[in-house]
Amino acid sequence: MKTPGRTLFPLKDLNRNQQEAVTQTEGPLLVLAGAGSGKTRVITYRIAYLLQEKKVPPYALLAVTFTNKAAGEMRERVIGLAGKEGRAVWISTFHSACVRILRQHVEKLGISRHFSIFDESDSTRVIKEVLAEMNIDARILPPRRVSYLISRAKNALVEPDLMAEQGEVSRDHLMDRIVQAYRMYEERLRRSQALDFDDLLFFTWRLFEERPEVLRSYEDLLHYILVDEYQDTNHAQYQIIRQLSARHRNLCVVGDDDQSIYRWRGADITNILDFEKDFPEAIVVTLGENYRSTGHILGAASCLISKNKGRKEKELLAVRPDGQKVSAYAAMDEREEGGFIAASILQLIRHENFSYRDFAVFYRINAQSRAIEDTFLKMNIPYTIVGGVRFYDRKEIKDIISCLRLILNPADWGSFERIVNAPARGVGKASLDKIRAAGIEGLTPEEAVQSVLKSGAVKGKAAQGLGDLLEALLMLREKLSLGTPLDEFVVAVLDETGYLGALQAQATDEARNRIENLHELLAVVDDFLSDDRPGEISATETLAAFLDQISLVSDIDNLKEEGSSVTLMTLHMAKGLEFPVVFMSGMEEDLLPHYRAQGEPVEMEEERRLCYVGMTRARELLFLTMARRRRLFGQYDNTLPSRFFTDLPAENVELHRETVYPIPGITDSLASLPMPSEGKVAIGEFTYVPEPVEGEDRLRPGMQVRHPMFGVGQVMAVEGTGPDARITVYFPRGGKKKLIAKYANLQVV
Ligand code: ATP
Ligand code: MG
Repeated sequence: MKTPGRTLFPLKDLNRNQQEAVTQTEGPLLVLAGAGSGKTRVITYRIAYLLQEKKVPPYALLAVTFTNKAAGEMRERVIGLAGKEGRAVWISTFHSACVRILRQHVEKLGISRHFSIFDESDSTRVIKEVLAEMNIDARILPPRRVSYLISRAKNALVEPDLMAEQGEVSRDHLMDRIVQAYRMYEERLRRSQALDFDDLLFFTWRLFEERPEVLRSYEDLLHYILVDEYQDTNHAQYQIIRQLSARHRNLCVVGDDDQSIYRWRGADITNILDFEKDFPEAIVVTLGENYRSTGHILGAASCLISKNKGRKEKELLAVRPDGQKVSAYAAMDEREEGGFIAASILQLIRHENFSYRDFAVFYRINAQSRAIEDTFLKMNIPYTIVGGVRFYDRKEIKDIISCLRLILNPADWGSFERIVNAPARGVGKASLDKIRAAGIEGLTPEEAVQSVLKSGAVKGKAAQGLGDLLEALLMLREKLSLGTPLDEFVVAVLDETGYLGALQAQATDEARNRIENLHELLAVVDDFLSDDRPGEISATETLAAFLDQISLVSDIDNLKEEGSSVTLMTLHMAKGLEFPVVFMSGMEEDLLPHYRAQGEPVEMEEERRLCYVGMTRARELLFLTMARRRRLFGQYDNTLPSRFFTDLPAENVELHRETVYPIPGITDSLASLPMPSEGKVAIGEFTYVPEPVEGEDRLRPGMQVRHPMFGVGQVMAVEGTGPDARITVYFPRGGKKKLIAKYANLQVV
């Protein structure tokens, strides 16, 4: 018999408690431990251990992470530890896992397997339509509130009928209408064969409840389930986990109640606190050592979180030396705050061994980033902003994606309405109303169009435009069924729908910008096609897989590691990550803690947890900054220092020596920033160096070309030939771009 200690498995990389959590593979296990104590590491090693030591086949494992990025990193590490078998382990977010399950089985619930996934803006649009139809004034019942309540209900697995029952108890006079809006919203989604994000969870749960044979097939397969960041699971996720692990009970969850920060999205902290009640035989492991942060950073963060009442007391010792004290800085206004951050970054790069990618700036709300970005632009500091207007939320990208969705799912009214007049086809509101009216009898949008054209209800230019659209959709579906590769197919969509032509005809800067974004979409398609995918699949399935993937990317997933730039993001996005140097900006009352938490003790504790999450991301240096007055949303206001400053211990935190203004609770000290030491000077960080040219000689990368917008650039790669060739060019002014020969107007220099 093999004993784990004598094998090659690198158990020595783990401390004793981590080893226990990794090797105790059978039965339920809870790892409840503080930040940076190696919880994610435990999950990763446990997967590798199951594969390598317990000879569990990869398909018997499911690991759930919080973002696709985290899933990707975990997979890489598992492959590093256990070899290529790790590739086949199902590591995914909850939502991606549910999509995969639903695509296979959702037809059993009467929903097309080509269902569209509606994102937040799609849902909001439907809710607005519903409320308008109900003649409800947005001041009485704002769409945002309705959408929040529906989402909360779905995350709690509450259907409209149940909501109505609960409403009778609560006696909210608006409840009837909210329930009605929920019903109508559901009806519309079903009519479009669409599911929203919350439905992905809800329908998976329902599928398992109503179709035990489907659940059984997954139970037969999945013997081991692992969940990271368990403190932020909502009720629906919790129930799905329970369903899947009921038979084998080999469920390993890891989390930290002090880092639960998604209550507003339905996360239920009792899931982790009650784990031992649900699984009385559970083994509970705690990890008491923090490997991430230096002593002062950890001391400050631990003291802060100890002020929360609703928590499990945890011991967390720093493995690393004390390091520098946490530095607090009060600026005059938000611009000076940005200036301080920028200057500190440049100084640390010059005198210490840091580069741009080592820095992160966190803030409470997205609107705070503007002032920081302005300074970074001025001081030439490269940065990546996580959040803001997402690539996939841009109009032209959404239009083309809607078109792709409609091609796949002809019942998708939402997507149809989005593209019926984009590009402009002379189809106004009156014509659309007629099409909608024709669609009431359960027709698809295209059938409805045919019917209004036939009856002559729509005439003239609109009829012409609708006819063109029908023809284009027909032709594109045929192309798809003939097996046109996805990259060519997307180009055909841009052409046949007249979308690209219309933008080119506009010839404005904005239109050119949109065309560039569409090129970028083609680059996304290309990246997608270059990932390995198991087996040969049809063009239709490839398109479906592509749409799934882009529906589920979150902002954080686009954070590229290789780029050397400072990362800017909200505190909520920072969960699970780590950076050598962290700036937490806007440490002011009403920002952190947020004003909505004032007077709400439960919310205030969540804000403190958020602050704790931010602080514990830092490995070497942590700066807490505030502005004495701040312009937000166009208005200047004087601010008060965050109450969280007074929760911090004097032995770990000090006032930055350049601070002119005092901060209550923070001790003044003369020595603060490390004295400049002889370090490596990072030269050339400002200048972009093109990536080395790969590719074959006959394709002639290395040529100089001129682009109407980006100026002169260097060809890096050429794929294909003729007008459809895809050319990758590096422009000093615009970065790397992937262009299509026939649209790019490139001139050889
Ligand atoms: P969070 O609560 O922020 O999600 P976590 O508990 O998941 O943190 P990890 O991210 O797994 O912690 O680990 C934090 C850091 O400590 C990582 O850089 C990890 O590689 C390192 N680490 C964890 N355990 C050990 C160990 N036994 N020896 C050396 N380094 C370790
Ligand atoms: Mg973690």
